[in-house]
Amino acid sequence: MKILLVGAGLSNAVIGRELASAGHSIVIVDSRSHIAGNCHTERDRETGVLVHVYGPHIFHTDDKEVWEYVNRYSAFKPYTNRVKTTVKEQVFSLPVNLHTINQFFEKVMRPDEARVFLESKADTSIEEPKTFEEQALRFVGRELYEAFFKGYTQKQWGCHPNELPASILKRLPVRFNYDDNYFFHRYQGMPEHGYTKLVEKILDHPNIEVILNKKFERGDGAEFDHVFYSGPLDGYFNYELGRLGYRTLDFERFTFDGDYQGCAVMNYGEESVPFTRITEHKHFAPWEEHDKSVCYREYSRACGKDDIPYYPIRLVKEKELLAKYVELAKNQQKVTFVGRLGTYRYLDMDVTIREALDTAREFLLCMKNGRQM
Ligand code: UDP
Repeated sequence: MKILLVGAGLSNAVIGRELASAGHSIVIVDSRSHIAGNCHTERDRETGVLVHVYGPHIFHTDDKEVWEYVNRYSAFKPYTNRVKTTVKEQVFSLPVNLHTINQFFEKVMRPDEARVFLESKADTSIEEPKTFEEQALRFVGRELYEAFFKGYTQKQWGCHPNELPASILKRLPVRFNYDDNYFFHRYQGMPEHGYTKLVEKILDHPNIEVILNKKFERGDGAEFDHVFYSGPLDGYFNYELGRLGYRTLDFERFTFDGDYQGCAVMNYGEESVPFTRITEHKHFAPWEEHDKSVCYREYSRACGKDDIPYYPIRLVKEKELLAKYVELAKNQQKVTFVGRLGTYRYLDMDVTIREALDTAREFLLCMKNGRQM
């Protein structure tokens, strides 16, 4: 079969590879000049540092098959994400852990004491937190919420945390020990030569043709037996029902002789600081040596018509519009919508790959049984 994949990010790389291996002929188009979507990495010309062009991507998963899958296409180097945050002219460790709690409240509590202490700060009248703010007040109390989450979240999402779902904060744990690993997954690491090299390897198959700098038009699908579309869902329908809201990011690059901040990610919790965080990219590849450093100040704002979409907003208004687009999508013959933009969800890379593997398998099964996907 001849299959068109729109978008050369992780989703379609994986789907393309699986279907190519099964003997199908694959064409992948992408409107950008590079593969790998928003996890694209490249060498900074001036410093030689491997840069996460669209912001930091750290691979972490509990999914053994996904971990083995990515390791088949790239060597992975051990990497533990340790995030710091600057608030009130002090540096704290994230996610909130025993060090953060003791430092913040100027105490020397042991785990059980800290647990009881934090429970005394928590708003226990909130039984089932629905919003981001309720989740924070329920589990860490007002002081920590206001220091670490309120301002950052306001900047990141452009709205008050009481408008956001609790699920966003549930991504971050609270720890009553000194473990400052940002993620709690069995496997964590960085592809040794970056994500673009990883995706390049996945796509390296004689049945796969990649065409860059090519904007997809709906008619392009006509000569193919099936289309997997990983672009923005509303974009596929020419935004005919309106636009799904996204946040986009702006990066302000600067270089530094030596080590600028001593860690890969420094968040800034206060609203008075206009950026959310500074990433110092050489620390994402601690096995490399660089004298010169390159950093990005990261600013979040509403995504305009010509901007790159990053984070789907998914508030009530967007979910209503999403439901309408999902209805339209269901009526499309021979088109499958995949990935973060195609399904309008906040997906981590491991989940993206898991879903792509499952989608490819389902497609192959449908083919075998003579069914339409
Ligand atoms: N967050 C926060 N303060 C921080 C870091 C994160 O309030 O210092 C909130 C913010 O709303 C963010 C969410 O927690 O969107 C999830 O954080 P995560 O680090 O998973 O965000 P990502 O790296 O995906 O942008």
